[in-house]
Amino acid sequence: MYHRQDTRPVRVGNLTIGGNNEVIMQSMCTTKTADVQATVAEIHRLEEAGCQLVRVTVNNQEAAAAIKEIKKQIHIPLVADIHFDYRLALAAIENGIDKVRINPGNIGRREKVEAVVKACKERGIPIRIGVNAGSLENHLLEKYGYPTAEAMVESALFHIGILEELDFHDIIVSLKASDVPMAIAAYTKAAEVIPYPLHLGITESGTLFAGTVKSSAGLGVLLNQGIGSTIRISLSADPVEEIKVARELLKTFGLIANAPTLVSCPTCGRLDIDLFSVANEVEAYLEKVKVPIKVSVLGCAVNGPGEAREADIGIAGARGEGMLFRYGEMIRKVPEHELVNELKKEIDVIVAEYERT
Ligand code: SF4
Repeated sequence: MYHRQDTRPVRVGNLTIGGNNEVIMQSMCTTKTADVQATVAEIHRLEEAGCQLVRVTVNNQEAAAAIKEIKKQIHIPLVADIHFDYRLALAAIENGIDKVRINPGNIGRREKVEAVVKACKERGIPIRIGVNAGSLENHLLEKYGYPTAEAMVESALFHIGILEELDFHDIIVSLKASDVPMAIAAYTKAAEVIPYPLHLGITESGTLFAGTVKSSAGLGVLLNQGIGSTIRISLSADPVEEIKVARELLKTFGLIANAPTLVSCPTCGRLDIDLFSVANEVEAYLEKVKVPIKVSVLGCAVNGPGEAREADIGIAGARGEGMLFRYGEMIRKVPEHELVNELKKEIDVIVAEYERT
């Protein structure tokens, strides 16, 4: 199997995907790409949330033309999502796109594929082959009868073969399905035979709640096996939520540097403080923190102090107050209404210490 570290590194703008590089978090704009102002505004919100690579649809010449202006105003690499029309790919490349998602086998005549590959080579732009269980080629549907993991991998190899024949190797591959076991099987089989970085995603995974569960279940299995160099959580929700979920998922598997961890208890009858609102407020505060600190928020003094001592900073609730712990030592008691603010102040102190060292 090609572990993510064994895949061929591919440059995308100022990022490198694959090889020893960190797993990259992606999202996709929901705006009309031709609406530069709205697209840039959404990308800025995504950047602030930690998005490292963003895709826009390029479904017409207006969208392709808008890339030039969008690129001037954003700080992360931009990917053009193109279906079938090689002229849109050429226009996107001409206007400064950093990566093209297009399936070479769907472009048409060989001269069209050659034109796209030549333009990508000249500018050092990679191509992502995006296999989707819902849009497999007819010859594969005829062969397999319906979408299967094997058919998806065969589709990926078919498109890869076209690019390799033209001596093009800056390739990234995705094999998305909304059926989680099928996606896991497809990516697992692909990792056995494809040396290029894999972009993971469970397509059309659903709403914020259901999609988070489905994506985490599927991508978690793969990430844990060492598969996947970039991820997208596809949600029917604000794309900023996709990045929040992606970040938490990568944290879970120790695949992200500089991200804090929040430990909070599920609460029980021993609870002495309003823990849910404390935990939510602290979680929101930590979204902006970019150092790997561990914060614990626990409801009572039974298990609380022990857990809080394991964290860099933590609180354990008591009746009408909380105990504040720092690096295992109780530093003071704080009235409940001041608990969150005091914890935030201590978080700031620890963050500043990390940033100095
Ligand atoms: Fe219950 Fe206390 Fe454990 Fe929270 S820390 S679940 S309140 S025993």
